[in-house]
Order: sequence, then C-alpha cells, then structure tokens
Amino acid sequence: STSTRQLSTTSGDYDNSNPHEVRKYLRTYGLTPPVVESFEVQAQRCLRLLAMKPTPLEKFQYLTHLKASNVHLFYRLLAGNVKELTPLIYTPTVGEACQRWHEIYTQPEGMYLSWDDRGNLHNIIQNWPHNVEITVLTDGSRILGLGDLGINGMGIPVGKLALYTACAGIRPDATLPLTLDLGTNNKALREDPLYMGSRREKVTAEEEKEFLDELMAALTDKWPGIVIQFEDFKNPFPALERYRNKYTCFNDDIQGTGAVILAGFMNAVKTSGIPVKDHRAIFLGAGSAGVGVAKQLVDFFVKEGLSEDEARRRFYIVDSNGLVTNDRGDKLAEHKLYFSRDDNQGRQYQSLSRLIEFVKPTILMGLSTIGGAFYRDIIERMARINARPIIFPLSNPSSKSECTFDEAIRYTDGRAIFASGSPFPSFEYGGKLLTPGQGNNMYVFPGIGLAAILSRAKHITSEMIYASAEALSNSLNEQERRDDWLYPDIRRIREVSVIVTRGVIRAAQRENMDREHSLRNLTDDQLDTYIKSRMYDPFREADLLGDEVRQLLNGVGG
Ligand code: NAP
Ligand code: MN
Repeated sequence: STSTRQLSTTSGDYDNSNPHEVRKYLRTYGLTPPVVESFEVQAQRCLRLLAMKPTPLEKFQYLTHLKASNVHLFYRLLAGNVKELTPLIYTPTVGEACQRWHEIYTQPEGMYLSWDDRGNLHNIIQNWPHNVEITVLTDGSRILGLGDLGINGMGIPVGKLALYTACAGIRPDATLPLTLDLGTNNKALREDPLYMGSRREKVTAEEEKEFLDELMAALTDKWPGIVIQFEDFKNPFPALERYRNKYTCFNDDIQGTGAVILAGFMNAVKTSGIPVKDHRAIFLGAGSAGVGVAKQLVDFFVKEGLSEDEARRRFYIVDSNGLVTNDRGDKLAEHKLYFSRDDNQGRQYQSLSRLIEFVKPTILMGLSTIGGAFYRDIIERMARINARPIIFPLSNPSSKSECTFDEAIRYTDGRAIFASGSPFPSFEYGGKLLTPGQGNNMYVFPGIGLAAILSRAKHITSEMIYASAEALSNSLNEQERRDDWLYPDIRRIREVSVIVTRGVIRAAQRENMDREHSLRNLTDDQLDTYIKSRMYDPFREADLLGDEVRQLLNGVGG
C-alpha cells in the first residue's frame, strides 16, 4: 500500500499553502475534483453516505472502507462522533460482522496464524510491514456472547484496536490485529464454502498452550516491549496466569471488565452512603466476566481494610446450577473455586429471590447473559432492603441485560444506583432526567495499553489494573458528580484516557515495572502534557492535502 508514503510538507520547491500549486508539483493536478475541501465538508459527506446505508452492517462496511482508504479522515470522523460511531465499529455491530465475516470479507486488516504454522511463527511475523507497539489477540473461540466463530473473530481485534487509536491515540500503524486459526468447533462455519480458516476442529487446550508459548516469545522477540491484549478466548484464565508475570500482557474480558466495573462501583459506594465494609454482593453469572469483576471488587474491599478472606465472603456467586458452593456435588470449574462457599448453603438455594432474602445484599450484579433475570419482584426486594440499592445488569447486548434502566428506576422509586453493560436511554422520573451509567471497557483498556507502551512496562500488574479503575472513578467533572453519574461522559474519552494513562504509569513506577525512567521525575501536569504529546491526533497529523494525495494514491493503486 502507498498510504504510508510521506508527503513532504517542508519542500521549498513549491508553495505549500497553495493546494493547486502542490497538485501541479506532484503531478496530481486534474486527477481530483477541482475543489479543495475543509475537513468539515468531507465529514459531512461521510455522514451523509453513512446515513444512506440502510443497515448497521452496511454502515460497518462503509466505515471499514473509509479506514482503509483514508485513515486520518476515518479517525477524525470517529473523534467527533465517538458516541454515535462506536456502536457501528464495535459492539453491537461488530458481532454481526463477525458472524458474517466470511461473507463480507474484502481485505485482510491483520495477521492470521494457523496451527500448521507452529514452529515457524517467528518467521511469519517478520512479514508484518510495520513496527508494532500493541496487538489484540483472539482465537475466536468465544466472540462476545456469540460462541465460537473461528477466524471470523478477526472483527474483534480490528475493532478494538480502532478504539485504542480513537480513545488513546495509539498510532494506527503501531497496532496489529491478530487472529489465531486453531480450528473451530463451529460446524456450520467449517462446512461453509466461504469460510477462510482451517477446516478442522479446535485444537486441544494443551496444544493451544504450546502454540501460545511460541507466539508470545516470537512477538516479544520481534517487537521488544510489545503490549499483548488477550480477547474473547473461551477459557482465558490459564493463559493470563501463565503470561502475566512473564510478558507485557493483559486480558480485557477479565481485567478490563473488572476495572471498569470497579470504577463505577467505587462511585456507587460513595453515593450509597453505606461504609465499604458493610456491603454484600450477589453475582448472577460466574463466567470470566463475573469472576473477573468479583475478584477486582475483592481487591477494593481489601484496600479498604478487610482481610482477603472477609472480603471473599462478601460475595455470593450464582451460576446456572445455583449458588456456587463446595457442597453442591458437581465438579466446579477451576475459576469458580475461589468464590465457592464452604458455609453449606448450596442445598438451600432455590431461587434468586430467596437468596436475596437470605443474604440481604447491598449489591446485585448481573453477568449471566440472561435477559430479564432481574424481574420486578427481584428489584423490589432490593429496594425494600436498601435505601440506595446498587443494581448493575451488565450482560450484553441490551436484549440480554438482566433489566433495563427504566425498570430499575421505576421498581425502586428512583432510588437505584445503576450501571449496565449496554447503553440505555435517559429516563425521566420524578421530574428529573436520569442518565444510566454504562460500564464500557473502552473507558479503561485504551489507557492501560498506552500507559504500558509509554512507560515500557515489563508486566501489567494487578496494581496497574487497579490504578486504571481508581483513575477512572476520579475522572468525573463537577457536573457529572452533581448528577450522580458513575462514569464520565463517553464524549470526553480522550481526556479520560489521559487520566487513566497517568494513573497506570504511576502504578508502574511505584512497582518498578517501568523501563522508561525518564517519566519518573515529571509532575502530574508534566506527565499529562507528555502523554498528550505522544497521542496520535488525526487533526494534527494530517493536513487536508496529505489526505487528498493519500486517497488519490490509494485510488490509483499506486
Ligand atoms: P459466560 O462465560 O458465558 O458466563 C455466563 C455465566 O452465567 C456462567 O457462569 C453461567 O453459568 C451463568 N448463567 C447462565 N445461565 C444462568 C442462569 N439461568 N442463572 C444464573 N447464572 C447463569 O460469559 P462472560 O464472558 O462471563 O460474560 C457474561 C456477560 O457479561 C455477557 O453478556 C457479556 O456481554 C457481559 N460482559 C459485560 C461487560 C461490561 O459490561 N463491561 C464486559 C464483559 C462481559 P455456568 O457457569 O454454569 O455455565
Ligand atoms: Mn471481549
């Protein structure tokens, strides 16, 4: 591709301020329409084109094309319309795009590595033409809530890295979307003639481990200090445990989710007025998200003065077979053992409402993927027990949310402290317009990634993840606090990412994880200035003319 060809803007050979002169000099005069357009006009055209596309999937495809053909324009458009465009480049639309990736595929966008490539990963990685600072890595085995989609899962690393760029200004060139082609247990896909991955069943966990061992070493050898983010693995726990103290990596499904919910929770606890040590939580759902969130909250209780054991016992975790306990008589998945209760309450579990009466929780979390699981009676019980019940239905998409915002508000007489995984509209109640919090991972993962890059972190420790939550919870402005918001306005995401990045860099420094010591002596203000100066800013980087020529070169296939 010629999209990276540099346009010299310092040349004395032509009048750089006169676009027509430049076009003549570059011999591109006449190859474009005569007008020299401002960004605003170009953006207007993009938004109109977008509006012409009747379905979200077609809008997704249009934006994919725009990113490939005019990357700075794409990011400027995204920067100005984060709230509106994120659902089109990431969830929920990316889910449908992944389900149909084999049908809508037009360009590779990242790297694919297959089981048959093992032994050669180091060589193959040399083929990537750019210097990489961060990669998002999936094996496609559990894409969002949509199951095993094999290499169709590529949409996830692609979309997530676009958010790293949009929210934290990581240079587009420095990102590597990476999808492992280790087979798929999705039979329909394997048999679809358009499927582009290996037509074999998923390799065993042991084989995947072997493959990942080779891959992690190869990536870090090729790009020392590379940040490796794991995403949407069916069983993400073993890899995280194996690599967290060896490479610069984290898992967003576990740690990013944990941090973003913790941040909202910290603010919810303040709003509730109940001392930290008096909280008790019921979690509906014990998957990677549920357990990840619960563990993050345990850290918080411990920091607030409880022993780890006291903290752990504040959590009642429910899976599809009921309350997770030692006496249940089934073999519990490894990751649930930490929260498995030994106070012999398993047989007493009959229903969520009974458990609520028994535990009298201050907090009800939903990570069960069961839409409507917090029905009216459940919410009303929470409202009877608590002046300000904390109710977080976190399952995505909206149809799977355990309750809606207006249900939580109406059934608690407006007293619920609420955050959800999916967006819900504001809701008028008691003469006030109430706005729900959305525990969106994009509040934290971009800042965690940027902090790891800038500080050249050896590893990404739990202290650093915790710091991302703390920074996020402190990032609200006065207005947002006055309105009892749990999270800042997503339109301020670039400012928020700077705050998160600073928090994580400071934690890295405290733990001696930073290899970049020059940032240690900076004041917070100086560090913020430094972070901003290192963020890719599509408005600053690309002059209009550069865009125009780039687009032209792409167009003629230069
Ligand atoms: P998962 O691995 O499929 O876990 C789902 C859990 O729910 C499992 O523990 C399952 O039980 C349990 N469950 C299923 N049916 C149930 C029922 N009837 N009653 C009680 N528990 C039930 O999924 P995950 O990756 O953890 O994600 C869970 C949800 O969280 C998803 O909807 C996801 O979109 C959402 N999420 C939100 C955020 C966010 O808000 N930032 C981030 C990540 C994920 P078994 O273990 O017995 O199967
Ligand atoms: Mn995920």
